[in-house]
Amino acid sequence: MGRIAPPLNPSSLVAYLSVPLVVRVLLVGLAYYAGAWLGVTQTVTAEGIAILWPPNAVLLSTFLIFPYRQWPLIAVAALVAECFADVPAFPLWAAVAFGSINLFETVLAAWLIRRAVGGVFDFDSLKRGAYFLLYGPLLASALAAFFGAGVYVLLGRNDTDYWSLWRLWWFGDALGLLLLTPLIVVLWRWADQGLPRFDWRKLAEISVVWLLLLVVGLNTFHPRVDSEPDFLLTPMVLLPFSAWAAVRMGIPGATTTVAMIAVMAVGFMVRGIHPYAGLDPQLSVWLMQENLAMVAMLSIGLAILLHEIKKQSDELERRVDERTDALQRSNQALAVANTRLNDLASTDYLTGIANRRHFHDIARRELLRLTEGGGTASLIMFDLDYFKQINDRFGHEAGDRVLNRVVHAVQETVRPMDLFGRFGGEEFLILLPDTPQDIALEVAERVRKKVEATQVEHHGSSIDVTVSLGVVAWDGHATLDELIRSADHALYQAKESGRNRVQVRSERH
Ligand code: GH3
Ligand code: MG
Ligand code: MG
Repeated sequence: MGRIAPPLNPSSLVAYLSVPLVVRVLLVGLAYYAGAWLGVTQTVTAEGIAILWPPNAVLLSTFLIFPYRQWPLIAVAALVAECFADVPAFPLWAAVAFGSINLFETVLAAWLIRRAVGGVFDFDSLKRGAYFLLYGPLLASALAAFFGAGVYVLLGRNDTDYWSLWRLWWFGDALGLLLLTPLIVVLWRWADQGLPRFDWRKLAEISVVWLLLLVVGLNTFHPRVDSEPDFLLTPMVLLPFSAWAAVRMGIPGATTTVAMIAVMAVGFMVRGIHPYAGLDPQLSVWLMQENLAMVAMLSIGLAILLHEIKKQSDELERRVDERTDALQRSNQALAVANTRLNDLASTDYLTGIANRRHFHDIARRELLRLTEGGGTASLIMFDLDYFKQINDRFGHEAGDRVLNRVVHAVQETVRPMDLFGRFGGEEFLILLPDTPQDIALEVAERVRKKVEATQVEHHGSSIDVTVSLGVVAWDGHATLDELIRSADHALYQAKESGRNRVQVRSERH
């Protein structure tokens, strides 16, 4: 209980002012009563029919905002308020009839509008604005006017014909809905979304607009001395101000400014001050109603249109941003995947060092660089001794372990700029840039000793491992393949002469 229409923003002004449902309904009743009092007292025509009828705007706004289940309570409050407002002037049965007709009008309108647009109702889209216009002021008010005019006829008001009564009722209700429903709903939603952040420049701007509006308005509605109707100075001359408010201050700006224009127009008119002096009072009321309706529709329509355009372009921008983000994310993922793929394609699965293809790529590039720079280089090729026996004795898994340990031992022996790769099986290559043969020999000897000193533990037994190495110095001309062939030859000689040794070979045979 005590909650109004979902969804309620807990930080909102509405929630802050949260009062029990009964109090809210009472407030609606009071607002209805105040509107009815205004409508009844602020009349021009002899029939006592209002220029505009505010209570129905209160009701329609409430029905558009409140959940359906709270409608019956609101209806009761409205009926009671109508009776309080009417009874001195009208018999009780007429008051109940008027109240029922107003309820019929607003319930029908609210139900049709909410059914057509769905969601939380607000004047924030052309569709919602259009359905409000169609089902509220145009349809429901015109329908209710048939019954309203009928009640007047039953009351014995035969000074005015039925169709004039119908038109007066329709126009008064329609204008009330048109001018005040957007104002109430927009201000309610505005407050519901939390206290609006005050933009002092906007506030100053709207103050200037309203001040100018007052100045021009007072001049528009001054008493005519010549009693000639002045069609130049109708409420239409105030349209620029409400249009300004619509463009600069959006829908809240438009609805409040339109309401100010209406208050001025009605306030002056009931005092006989209006541009249509000299015309039949009923005709002047119709002219005023038409003018105010045009001002309201143009200004609020313009504000809604601009809001819709902005919403759509924001949405478009958001979607473009979203797509760009998604694209960036997938590009990053692709880059990561590419790096990973490159790593996979260039490293040896078992040992993690360069595979044959990658070794070739880098080594070729390195030799090219050295050719241009006139540097030296040496190549070491080595092969595990009797590795087949290790596999046979201890199994392939142990063989893999041995390969890994040998690779780690060698990695600790060579410099970071040396290129170490697996040539295949248990054969490896080390390219040593800027390294002459004698230094390469020392490196090879270090590698041999290091591997010889390496013991691989396997299920309690320790596996000894040695390597044979072929070393070849690069002459600055030989291709990588020629260099590998030479190193292979030296390696073969190292094997031939007893293994676990280093054999040098010059690149020319
Ligand atoms: P040598 O001293 O003449 O080099 O004799 P060897 O037994 O080392 O040479 P051989 O070429 O006869 O055998 C090499 C063996 O290395 C055969 C193959 O099963 C084994 N081998 C090659 N790659 C791998 C590997 O990735 N893991 C394991 N566990 N064994 C491998
Ligand atoms: Mg071998
Ligand atoms: Mg071999």
